[in-house]
Amino acid sequence: MRAAVVTDFTAPLEIQERAVPEPGPGQVLVRMEACGLCHTDIHAAHGDWPVKPAPPFVPGHEGVGIVEKVGSGVTNRQVGDRVAIAWLGHACGHCRACVRGWETLCEEQQNSGYSIDGAFAEYAVADADYVVAVPEGVDPTDAAPLTCAGVTTYKAIKVAHIEPSERVGIFGVGGLGHLAVQYARLVGGEVVAVDVEDEKLELATQLGADHTVNARATDPVAAIEALGGLDVAVVTAVIPQVFEQAFASLRRGGRLVCVGLPPESEGPMSLPIFPTVLKGISVIGSIVGTREDLAEVFALHALGRTRVVSQTRKLDEVNEAIDEVLSGKTPARLVFQF
Ligand code: NAD
Ligand code: ZN
Ligand code: ZN
Repeated sequence: MRAAVVTDFTAPLEIQERAVPEPGPGQVLVRMEACGLCHTDIHAAHGDWPVKPAPPFVPGHEGVGIVEKVGSGVTNRQVGDRVAIAWLGHACGHCRACVRGWETLCEEQQNSGYSIDGAFAEYAVADADYVVAVPEGVDPTDAAPLTCAGVTTYKAIKVAHIEPSERVGIFGVGGLGHLAVQYARLVGGEVVAVDVEDEKLELATQLGADHTVNARATDPVAAIEALGGLDVAVVTAVIPQVFEQAFASLRRGGRLVCVGLPPESEGPMSLPIFPTVLKGISVIGSIVGTREDLAEVFALHALGRTRVVSQTRKLDEVNEAIDEVLSGKTPARLVFQF
């Protein structure tokens, strides 16, 4: 099988011929149909974050495909099932986080395409309990971006506890952000989309954003202040300064939801104490979503409530695709098709 492999944080990915893996006990072998390129895969390939993956490894955590073999002891999946391989590749199932419905905070978790090989390959093995069924009526090319970009922003909107008519800013309308705009609309938010590319802002308007702000052309804090300020700011951009702008755009009682994960070299965001206290601001970190969240994301999509915007690429084009995402010119998500 062909796989895109990170061999070194400073080198392009290599397309390698590898043996098709055998599913171990409790695992399934998935023949990949589609896998999205998340910005996280780029951070992984570049070793951007404090906790680094160990090359050689195969990125990819928006994998969707068909179960081709099941390992011993697997009773919940069958050959022929369509499943999604998400960031949460495995959790312990019995720690405090897991039993409280916060499996994404499990300290023993394994992450697809990071600590274990992921879905930038024609086949991948995965824990049968942690793959999520893709329902009838959800196209695999749509299911792929929903598997990370979708579930992550769906959860970010959930943890912000948005009430209808609250004003919600989405900072960064890329792969994650184009879905965040739609989930914010679904809960009744008045949506302000912020990006630096006009094409992305036009897309945000088509997807239901009520206002757009080009942060390259205008000061986003002043532009949002003129609208009356935000109740919630969800930040998917990859620059600490954008988190600071989002914070400064909040009105009293506001919530800052941190989702983007800038490289460690970009340094921290600064959080001024005085306005945090006087304005009663909450700062929330939000990491992907649970298997149940992903099932809900798929169900909403099957109902026609969301639109996934993507373009397809071949796995051989993985390095060009990464450059495209970094250039900011990609419309929402690139998806590798197998
Ligand atoms: P992306 O590259 O598709 O989107 C980033 C967007 O930010 C682009 O549209 C870009 O134009 C925009 N942007 C750039 N500069 C900006 C600025 N100054 N102001 C506003 N917008 C600006 O990336 P993505 O796949 O959506 O991922 C975004 C981030 O989220 C990455 O850091 C990724 O690792 C992280 N992520 C986090 C989680 C989580 O669970 N918290 C899950 C998935 C991804
Ligand atoms: Zn656990
Ligand atoms: Zn991701």
